[in-house]
Amino acid sequence: MKVENIAEKLILIPSFPVNKDGKKNVSGEEALAVFIENFLKKARPELKMKKQIVKGRRYNMVFSSRPLSESRLIFCCHMDTVPAKALQVGKNGNLKVNIVQDRVYGLGSVDMKGGIATLLSALEELEKPTEGLAIIFYCDEEFGFLGMKKLTEELEVKAPLAIFCEPTNLKISNGCRGLIEFCGYIKGKTAHASRPEDGRNAIFIADDAFKDFKTRIKSYENLDFGNSVCNLAGLNGGLAVKNDKGDTSIEYSGNNVPNIAYTVIEARTTEAVLNSKRAIALFKKSVEREGGTFQLDKIKHDYSAFFTPPIKLKKLEKAINEAGESVLYQDLSNTGYYDAEMFSRNFSISSISFGPSPTEKSHAEDEYVSIKSLNKTKKVYKKIMENYKVL
Ligand SMILES: [Zn+2]
Repeated sequence: MKVENIAEKLILIPSFPVNKDGKKNVSGEEALAVFIENFLKKARPELKMKKQIVKGRRYNMVFSSRPLSESRLIFCCHMDTVPAKALQVGKNGNLKVNIVQDRVYGLGSVDMKGGIATLLSALEELEKPTEGLAIIFYCDEEFGFLGMKKLTEELEVKAPLAIFCEPTNLKISNGCRGLIEFCGYIKGKTAHASRPEDGRNAIFIADDAFKDFKTRIKSYENLDFGNSVCNLAGLNGGLAVKNDKGDTSIEYSGNNVPNIAYTVIEARTTEAVLNSKRAIALFKKSVEREGGTFQLDKIKHDYSAFFTPPIKLKKLEKAINEAGESVLYQDLSNTGYYDAEMFSRNFSISSISFGPSPTEKSHAEDEYVSIKSLNKTKKVYKKIMENYKVL
């Protein structure tokens, strides 16, 4: 089957776990998973499927002919999309798909049903059996990483390379920045407003500590990503007042030096060692340097950066060349976090993304995938399978 026709079929199957109005869609990716299972049963009967229940009716699927710990090459695809936008739904309420010249329009066309279609089409066309190849289809990449969390908790996977079929404009995307967010209370010392020198204004401490923290964070750098950066995302300072239950609330009183400041700190990191634990320790030091103390309230995000050095990707580069494409790397300095990091860190597997274009249309209302790029990607996937000797 032509790759664009597989893409068409995939796009028409809804696989978003949350609807546009925020309501849960309990079957999530189920219908898409069933389609993929039936397709591969026919195309590659030697690949055995294992289901991994994620939550309720939502599940991951692993296809392989060997134990996962003996894999030579892994492809990873998330099955979910973001909720449908108005343009992507027909009058009858069903998802729409449209082919216009080189473009297949529809929800998830480029992120990442185009990538899945490419992989399925490549597998369908292979003449040799797939030895040491593993393919993982998983849930919930666009929302809470439930599928990837489950995979990394329960599976034992080994392989020299994992490829995520995300859209990358046929460039190698070999890493992403990390994301850390935490919040907590900075405590200073109150005093009467007429004698501010007797107190330590918690709001001023927050401001000065943040500036100091910024320079500490900056020293964590990676040649490809640049420096780690941070943001003071929220600040609420005033006078700490305890209620009957012992909870602290922040109130505003003009004649007092504020002794408390609730602070939200966010950082985009470029070095894997800079995790939330280290960032919080650094922030504490900055606060103490300014004469205050810091009490952590909660960690909202704790995702590390990851980077696969090109030296580990020689076979991949060779495959791209053999498929007639140029080896290009994505500029990683602006990349957001994605779950290849969890996979790469948990299993110590060199991981990258490589897929069709245009990346820029991911999650857009006029999302589309270029058919030319699907065919080029397919050629590359087949060459990679050859070069990793899974055929
Ligand atoms: Zn994606």
